[in-house]
Amino acid sequence: MTILLTGGAGYIGSHAAVALIEAGHAVVCFDNHCNSKPDVAVQVEQITGNAPIMVTGDIRNRAALDQVFADHAIDAVIHFAGLKAVGESVALPLEYYENNVWGTACLLQAMKAAGVRKLVFSSSATVYGAPQYLPLDETHPRSATNPYGRTKLIVEHMLEDLAASDPDWRIAVLRYFNPVGAHASGLIGEDPNGIPNNLMPYVTRVASGRLDQLSVFGNDYDTPDGTGVRDYIHVVDLAAGHLAALDRIGRESRALSVWNLGTGNGHSVLDLVRTFEAVNGLAVPYRFAPRRAGDVAACYASPDLAREELGWEAQRDLAQMVGSAWSFEKLATTRNR
Ligand code: NAD
Ligand code: UDP
Repeated sequence: MTILLTGGAGYIGSHAAVALIEAGHAVVCFDNHCNSKPDVAVQVEQITGNAPIMVTGDIRNRAALDQVFADHAIDAVIHFAGLKAVGESVALPLEYYENNVWGTACLLQAMKAAGVRKLVFSSSATVYGAPQYLPLDETHPRSATNPYGRTKLIVEHMLEDLAASDPDWRIAVLRYFNPVGAHASGLIGEDPNGIPNNLMPYVTRVASGRLDQLSVFGNDYDTPDGTGVRDYIHVVDLAAGHLAALDRIGRESRALSVWNLGTGNGHSVLDLVRTFEAVNGLAVPYRFAPRRAGDVAACYASPDLAREELGWEAQRDLAQMVGSAWSFEKLATTRNR
């Protein structure tokens, strides 16, 4: 198949590109590079032997989207493109609604016009809001506590309305938990601009000396060691989940399906830091800091539905996540010098 990846040059999109190419698919990436570099195609080619086609464009530009569908016989779309920083979304809500909600509406219109009705959408565990029970299954009530989460929730509702309006759509909504780590080659990974908001890239930058010290946000949560617990999932496992979802919607009778992509295991901030130190033989200086606004004590998935319906299950453990994240950081540090 030929798969269009919006946001395909980004962190998760580039790993999905590798997985799709390795499975024999042709990949077209459509990305405006507001948070990525076009040369990721070179790294993907180094890994797979085949380069994805890179088209520079914005999902809010309907004409540019129509041109991509005219130029390539697209069978399905995986929609990664979007803005994803919670704090930034509080400061710049209109940019988030425009990119994530309006941009998705433009993409869906272009797909409809081109007669392409297979879609995999990058949603997030953030749509569960504060957990009412754990593990989180797909029927847990949804809510949003910040503009970023609200954009994901609005798009989920938009996709439900679309599926109800036309039963020919085959849509997979994938709710990611906490993607971390990098491809085993160390060639692609997470390299955020500026100071990272997320735990893993912050840890790797402290370990490399690019940042001084990690602040552990809160050590008084009701968790085994008092620090926040999350379901970290290796990005290579997450990428494989997209292939399984694509395969499933190709033979699915429902117009819209929802699956969690997580491991089902919760790890605390200190678990992650200590595993990182042990696996990589490095110290990660940290201090305890106050809780971060909006954080919950614990959040982890029930991966049962994905295992039953997709035949997919995460394979890699926390040691592989922190090891690969460090391999990528080392190469990235060398490249940036
Ligand atoms: P990323 O920022 O690395 O990748 C997103 C890509 O989309 C970037 O390459 C960016 O340049 C591009 N993009 C943004 N707006 C665009 C637009 N208007 N037109 C074209 N391209 C545009 O982020 P990621 O971590 O790879 O996340 C991919 C998707 O997964 C996002 O939708 C994100 O919300 C979702 N998600 C991510 C996480 C996470 O922790 N990384 C968790 C849950 C959900
Ligand atoms: N965290 C931390 N220090 C940081 C960044 C994150 O202690 O510099 C904690 C955060 O409070 C949460 C966990 O690490 O308990 C995961 O946070 P992240 O931002 O990576 O993902 P989230 O689950 O918030 O989407």
